[in-house]
Amino acid sequence: MQKRTILIIEDNELNRDILDEILSADYNLLMAEDGKKGLELLRENVKKINVVLLDIMMPVMDGYQVLEEVNRDESLQHIPIIVTTGDEGHGVEEHCLKLHAADFIKKPYNPLIVRLRIENLIRMRYFAATLNDVEIDKQTGIYTHNAFMLYANEWINNHPDMNLTLAMTDVRGFKRLSNQFGDKAYEVLRREVATIRDNYPTDTIIGLYSHDQIIYLHPTATSSLDNEEKEEWYEKRFVELSQDLDVVIKAGICEGLDTSVPFSTHVQNVAVALYAVKNTYNRHVRFVGKELLDKIQRDALIEQLMEDALSKGQMQVYYQPKHDAKSEKLVGAEALLRWISPELGFVSPGEFIPVFEKNGFVSEADAFVWRETCKNQRRWIDRGLKVVPISVNASRQDFSRKDLRQVIAGPMKEYCIGNQLMHLEITESLFDNLSSEAFKLLQECRENNLMIELDDFGTGYSSLNSLSELPIDIVKFDMSFVRKLQDPRKYSVMKGCVEITKSLNLKSVAEGVEDAETRKVIADMGIDAIQGYYYSKPLPAAAFEEYLAQHQD
Ligand code: C2E
Ligand code: MG
Ligand code: MG
Repeated sequence: MQKRTILIIEDNELNRDILDEILSADYNLLMAEDGKKGLELLRENVKKINVVLLDIMMPVMDGYQVLEEVNRDESLQHIPIIVTTGDEGHGVEEHCLKLHAADFIKKPYNPLIVRLRIENLIRMRYFAATLNDVEIDKQTGIYTHNAFMLYANEWINNHPDMNLTLAMTDVRGFKRLSNQFGDKAYEVLRREVATIRDNYPTDTIIGLYSHDQIIYLHPTATSSLDNEEKEEWYEKRFVELSQDLDVVIKAGICEGLDTSVPFSTHVQNVAVALYAVKNTYNRHVRFVGKELLDKIQRDALIEQLMEDALSKGQMQVYYQPKHDAKSEKLVGAEALLRWISPELGFVSPGEFIPVFEKNGFVSEADAFVWRETCKNQRRWIDRGLKVVPISVNASRQDFSRKDLRQVIAGPMKEYCIGNQLMHLEITESLFDNLSSEAFKLLQECRENNLMIELDDFGTGYSSLNSLSELPIDIVKFDMSFVRKLQDPRKYSVMKGCVEITKSLNLKSVAEGVEDAETRKVIADMGIDAIQGYYYSKPLPAAAFEEYLAQHQD
C-alpha cells in the first residue's frame, strides 16, 4: 500500500528527530519548524497529507494560531490534527478541542502510543469517508435512499413534537433527458435541490427516492393559509420552479406528519400523491389528504382481494353490443370486466384496472376475459346462435408475458373459435417502447384475420400519425369526441378523422353514444359502427345471449 503522509510542525529539532525515528519507516514525513511554514506546507500538499502533528509552543506562529487558520480555510478543515503537548499547563486540551483538534499525544513520546494514535485516527477517517460514499449520491450530492430514511427517522425521534412536512418531487421525462444528455441531465436535479434548499428551512433533510425522485423533510413553515390555499401556494412555487429549470416538476406533499404513523408509510403516501398528480394534466402539486388516503386504503384492499375474487367467480365478463351505423344490425360487442365484491361492493373497472395495471395482475384478468369470451362464444354457437366478433381489452403488461401467444391461441383452439370472432383492443400507449417481438405478434394476429382495434382514440394519448403507422384495423373514437359534437370545431375534427380512417382503409367505431340525435349525427359522418347506452349498457353473459337471440339478422 502507498505510504501515507504526515506533516510534523515542531520547533524543537530533537523532537522532530525522535518523531522521524518513530514514524519514517511507515510514513512519508514533511517537517516544518514553525506554524507559518507548517501552514504553507499544508496548503501546498493538502491533497496528500493525511495527518498533522502540531506542537503548541512555537515561534512566529504558535499551534493555536495554526488551528484557527485551519478552521477558517474550508479546504483544510478535513485534515485531522493531533496536538503534541508537553507541560504547557492547564486548559491546553480544552482550548485545542474547541479549535477542533482531533487528538493529543503527550511528550516525551512513547513510540508505540504515537504510532497507534496516528493509525487509529487514519482508520477512523477512512471509515468516515467510506460511509460518506455510501450515504451520498454522487450525481446529486444528496443522501441516498437508505441514508435519508436513517436520518429522517432519527430527526423525527429527536423532535417528536415538531410539525414536519414531507415532499416528493419528480422531473417529467427525466429518463429521456438522461438518455439524451447523459450525466448532464443531473444538473436539473442539482439545480432543483439548490433552489428548494434556498427556499426552505435550513434543517431540510434531502434524499433520493429513486433515480429522479427526490424527498424533502423539513419543519412546516408557519402560515395562516388553509389547506386549499396552501396547495395553491405550493402549486405556484412548482410552476415557477418548472419554468426556471425548463422542465415539468411535480410534487406530492404531506404537511403536519402524524409521528405515531411509521415514517415509511408517509413516504409511501407522498409517493402515491405524486403518482396521482403525475397523471393530472396542468397540476403540479397534490397534497396527501383524506380523499387520497382513503384511495390508498381501498387500492390496498383491492390488491389484497383480487386473486381470490378472480378464482372465486366474483369477477364476471359483461358484453356491450355494437351496431352497424347504417343498417343498425348487431355487428359486434365489447367484453368488459365487472367485479362484485362481498367486501367492497361493486368495484368499477375504472378503479380496479389501474391498480391491476400497476401490480401486473391485469394480465391474469385479461387472460380470464379472453378465455371466458371464447367459452361463451362456443356456448352460443352450440345453441345455434349466429355470433358476432367480440373485442377484448388488452393492456401493456399482457405484451410482456412470454406465453402471450399461448394465452391467445390456447382457448381459441380449445373452444374451436375462429380468429374472425375475436378482436383485440389496445391503446396507443401500448406502443411506447414495445418490444419488436410484441409488434410482430400484433402483425401476425392481423395477418391471421384477428383484428386489432385502437381504443380511446382522441383522449389525448393518440395522434394522427399513429393511424398510418400502427398495425391496426379499427379505430374506436372515444366518448370524449362524441360528447362535444355541438361544438362545430370539434364536429369538424371528428369528421376529418373519420375521413382519414376511411382513406387509410381502417374501420371506425364510436363509443358512448347515448341518444338518437347523436347516433344520427355520427352515422351521417360515415362511422361504421356504434357502441353506447343508446343501444344497450354492458350486459351479463346470459342477458347478452338473449340480446343476441333477438338480433339474429
Ligand atoms: P373502454 O375500453 O374504453 O370501455 C368503454 C367504457 O365506456 C366502458 O366502461 C363502458 O361501460 C363505457 N360506456 C359504453 N357506452 C357508454 C355510454 O353510452 N355512456 C357512458 N357514460 N359510458 C359508456 P367500463 O366498463 O367502466 O370500463 C372502463 C375501462 O376499463 C374500459 O374503457 C377499459 O379501458 C377498462 N377495462 C374494462 N374491462 C377491461 C378488461 O377486461 N381488461 C382491461 N385491460 N381493461 C378493461
Ligand atoms: Mg375498450
Ligand atoms: Mg374506449
